[in-house]
Amino acid sequence: MKRESILVIGAGGQIGVELTAALRRIYGDFNVIAADLQIPPGTRDSAGPYQQLDVMNKSALASFVAKNHVTQIYLLAAMLSATGEKHPEKAWQLNMQSLLHVLDVAVEKKVSKVFWPSSIAVFGPGAPAKDCPQDAPLVPATVYGISKAAGENWCKYYWKKHGVDVRSIRYPGLISHLAKPGGGTTDYAVDIFHQALAKQSYTCYLRESSFLPMMYMPDAIRATIQLMDAPAMKLSVRTSYNLAAMTFSPAQLARSISRYIPDLVVGYAPDARQVIADSWPESIDDRPARHDWGWDHEYDLSATTRDMLLHLAQKEGVAGKRSLQLQPDVFF
Ligand code: NAD
Repeated sequence: MKRESILVIGAGGQIGVELTAALRRIYGDFNVIAADLQIPPGTRDSAGPYQQLDVMNKSALASFVAKNHVTQIYLLAAMLSATGEKHPEKAWQLNMQSLLHVLDVAVEKKVSKVFWPSSIAVFGPGAPAKDCPQDAPLVPATVYGISKAAGENWCKYYWKKHGVDVRSIRYPGLISHLAKPGGGTTDYAVDIFHQALAKQSYTCYLRESSFLPMMYMPDAIRATIQLMDAPAMKLSVRTSYNLAAMTFSPAQLARSISRYIPDLVVGYAPDARQVIADSWPESIDDRPARHDWGWDHEYDLSATTRDMLLHLAQKEGVAGKRSLQLQPDVFF
């Protein structure tokens, strides 16, 4: 019998490292292939297979999918919002062409399911800032957002026209202790933890009152797998689902971290990323995801802060230092 495989493209990135590990726990190490331009640091030591693959090379992608009997593709390769504004044409090329290659290969090689993430960046200044609904108008202000809005429509088109079962989530800003973020506007919410532990100070490139929708990575991974497992007939959204967990400002995150690191000093020096942040909603209404496939988040701001510090303090060996007021009963 042919062995069927799941292919994760962009497996070395912030989401890819954790998603690959989670899929391997469910489907077995050797049934999940981690693919990226370079050897992903988080996956090279794990038991499962790794493939060097450029998703922009369509024929290489097609023959790899056929040879390895790939039945599901998770496409995570992309250029994110802040980097995309520096290289708009490259961002458009990578974000669009990678998706079209995967959708075409899915049709040609009869891949049964595709996952492709969208983002809250599809919403622009015209969308409601609070509890932005699923069907708010998509008038994005960045090249990244334009590519995600167009990609959502391509997903729906391939589903309707070719029957490709492609599923998608509009991720909010994601916070993870494992992989560093890859050039997004919400990266501060990861960097602040590293700097708080290393030197008890951080200069934030967003205003202290800049509220954005955020999610802890374990919730994002769980949502992704839950959506991919949901019966097709339950899915009413074939562009991309709004998804929410929490919303906070840099000042609120700094206060939450200060509970454990009272010496923490945070300054604010908004740069070009503030303009991007200002174009995005502050919070998201994700009722269709909750209704259709039972989405529910587990991590709020305080649970995220605690878990991030727990993991990073252990990893970076700073537990016990004066600067980190660990509460042994709560923390270690
Ligand atoms: P990332 O930048 O950390 O990782 C992307 C990975 O894709 C990198 O490892 C990169 O080497 C790889 N890649 C780039 N070009 C490639 C190519 N031509 N062929 C193969 N691999 C290539 O990104 P991420 O944060 O993990 O995001 C993954 C997806 O989720 C993206 O589509 C992104 O838009 C979306 N998303 C992320 C966030 C977030 O906060 N991280 C939020 C919303 C949406």
